[in-house]
Amino acid sequence: MNNNLSHQKQDRRSFLRKAGASVALGSLGVLSFPYTKLSARSFDESKLGVALVGLGYYAKHKLAVGLEVTEFCQLKGIVTGTPSKIPDWKSKYNLEDKNIYNYQNFDSIADNPDIDIVYVVLPNSMHADFVIRAAQAGKHVICEKPFDINAKRSAEAVEACAKAGKLLQIGYRCQYDPNHQEIMRIGREKELGALKEIRSSHSFFGVHGDNWRYTDRSLAGGGPLMDVGVYSINAARYSTGLEPVAVWAKTYNTYPNRMDGMEETIVFTLEFPDGTLANCSSSYAARANFLHISAEKGNYGLEPCFGYSGATGYKGEDKIDLPIHNQQAAQMDAFARNILDGTPVIASGEDGLKDMIVIDALYKSAKKGGKRIAIG
Ligand code: NAD
Repeated sequence: MNNNLSHQKQDRRSFLRKAGASVALGSLGVLSFPYTKLSARSFDESKLGVALVGLGYYAKHKLAVGLEVTEFCQLKGIVTGTPSKIPDWKSKYNLEDKNIYNYQNFDSIADNPDIDIVYVVLPNSMHADFVIRAAQAGKHVICEKPFDINAKRSAEAVEACAKAGKLLQIGYRCQYDPNHQEIMRIGREKELGALKEIRSSHSFFGVHGDNWRYTDRSLAGGGPLMDVGVYSINAARYSTGLEPVAVWAKTYNTYPNRMDGMEETIVFTLEFPDGTLANCSSSYAARANFLHISAEKGNYGLEPCFGYSGATGYKGEDKIDLPIHNQQAAQMDAFARNILDGTPVIASGEDGLKDMIVIDALYKSAKKGGKRIAIG
């Protein structure tokens, strides 16, 4: 670890401990809600402890792997409904029994000073409930995308975190990737002039799968829009730095007896207040992974854009190909720094909630046959 950062972190941590963060950070004017003191712990003092809730694909193959290379946080606990998974996780990550929970006894995590951050990686409709429980247990929270299955539940979770004085991050790993940050910069600085049209799709051929995503509307809340289309919404918003004022959507299903009550494909448009249009699609019966932006003086974008193996792209004739070691680690370390330094969260709960408001409006439009739905 960079020595300066390490010392800075240790100093910040002991400062928080000694002073009581609500007074210290409040006086810096960084946070607008009460902040709670970090407690004493029994492990690597320089890192915050993370507990993963839900040990499925993403937790096992991406987040736990990312946590092996994080500088400011480390895996210290798990929360699972499947006891047979425990031995492997315990031995691989050297977890203590007292840091292993199930969904029923999860709330007692409140008494565990080893855990600073709870990371919710469950099926979509379980997100808000666990975010609220984690915040009420006095933990900072990371919640996977989509925030939940509608804006109402997401707003309740934002409110619960604010009330508990806890930070909340949505797992939008792309926002911590320098290639996406370059896209944000070009748009915000209008380097190629005003944006005119955004095109984006995130799609994969999953329609025949048996995971809850494709089979259980009560858990998924919808089809690919909830799962991967949300990346295009988020990207259109962070590319423009604006909030859409209206949306249109149409949904399509071509495989009978699949995607029960959920879309297989959705095509949708977001209209921004400066007239920029984002024309997007998301499908479980197609393959696409891009963000292309037309501005007055030229085009730029990323393709591949949203995948785990990284984003690369172009700005006119130039390449965009900035190095990043591990998106998940970058995202989690940034959140740990927010906690340690009292800085604002980039992919905040409010950001996730704004995407859910757009998703609610898109489904409303699709239900009305593609009618324009105004937002706000
Ligand atoms: P998964 O099906 O592999 O894992 C889900 C986990 O939840 C499993 O451990 C399962 O046992 C547990 N679970 C608890 N109650 C359940 C229930 N009633 N039904 C089914 N499973 C239940 O899913 P995943 O791919 O790991 O996705 C989990 C979350 O992470 C989703 O919200 C998804 O959108 C998100 N995700 C994000 C990214 C990203 O790049 N940020 C990538 C993949 C998944």
